[in-house]
Amino acid sequence: MIAITYHEEYNKYDLGVDHPLVGDKPKKTLDFFMQKQLMKECDLLTVPLASEQDLLRVHSSAYVNKIKQLSKTGGMLSLDTPAPPGIYEYARRATGGTVLCGRKLYENYDITVNPLGGFHHAGRENSSGFCFFNDIAVVIEYLRKTFNLERCAVVDVDVHHGNGTQEIYYDDPSVLTISLHQDGRTLYPGTGALEKIGRDKGEGYTVNLPLPPGTGSQSYLSAFTFLVPPLIEQFQPEVLIYQSGVDTHHSDPLADLQLTFSTYYHLAQTMKELASRTCEKLLVLFGGGYNSDASVKAYYNITCGLMGKSSIITEQEQHEIIDSQVQDNVRELQRILSPFWTLQ
Ligand SMILES: [Zn+2]
Repeated sequence: MIAITYHEEYNKYDLGVDHPLVGDKPKKTLDFFMQKQLMKECDLLTVPLASEQDLLRVHSSAYVNKIKQLSKTGGMLSLDTPAPPGIYEYARRATGGTVLCGRKLYENYDITVNPLGGFHHAGRENSSGFCFFNDIAVVIEYLRKTFNLERCAVVDVDVHHGNGTQEIYYDDPSVLTISLHQDGRTLYPGTGALEKIGRDKGEGYTVNLPLPPGTGSQSYLSAFTFLVPPLIEQFQPEVLIYQSGVDTHHSDPLADLQLTFSTYYHLAQTMKELASRTCEKLLVLFGGGYNSDASVKAYYNITCGLMGKSSIITEQEQHEIIDSQVQDNVRELQRILSPFWTLQ
């Protein structure tokens, strides 16, 4: 059974009229799911605020206080991230949704979804990229403390590299982070090179596959299929976290990958199968997506993949030039990871 978290206040996570992050996307998503009769087969859970204690397991108190202060007056967290009044509560609400999703995986659900989750650019002490608190790390730390979680894997397919999550777990072998993203030389935040594989005991537990601008569905899916299932099966996580960002869609205004709607269905289906073969606990965070109408459809296809429904939204496939650069990167990554993982 699937549960989706929601709260009216989700729609207040709005960074301003001219900002690419559109505040009412969670409501639009839920309305679309209802219109498509999807909610009949999902439970809707209302979301509490994440506690300050939850935040402090990941972020420094100086950083949390800074957000609190900005939230009173309004201001800027970074050049690209305005902090509107009230953001401390709204960001805690978003984080609360992810924590609830984590907890519910230990109660009565095997798949939980937070439509306002996946704030992967937030580091311990600082952030940008429209993120305030790293809900991915907050839920991992919550689950470690509450349920003795020992191994967690994060698969992040948002078009932007998950730099905050990587930074937090770079030397930690108990969290495997896998990020597929547009090459950092061509897109924010500029990180996530192939060679970045972790440090000290965490070596081999950070995996990055940068993709050139223009990468289409076919190349993307074949790279994903080559890489992700074998890593997850060898690692055997107890919880699988899926940051399913859809800013990889060809219509997204912020990035340059060329994926189509059906790709999101296939990715979600694979993630669901992987969870059933390993831990039966899949936490889905919808992540980025800045063409609102396209994002809602892509999120719908993800949910169809999770629920095993084939009534997905399709579109004309994009003309795809198979770029040998994707294959070259995959082969290079296979070589770099060979002391740690078997990929064939
Ligand atoms: Zn993104």
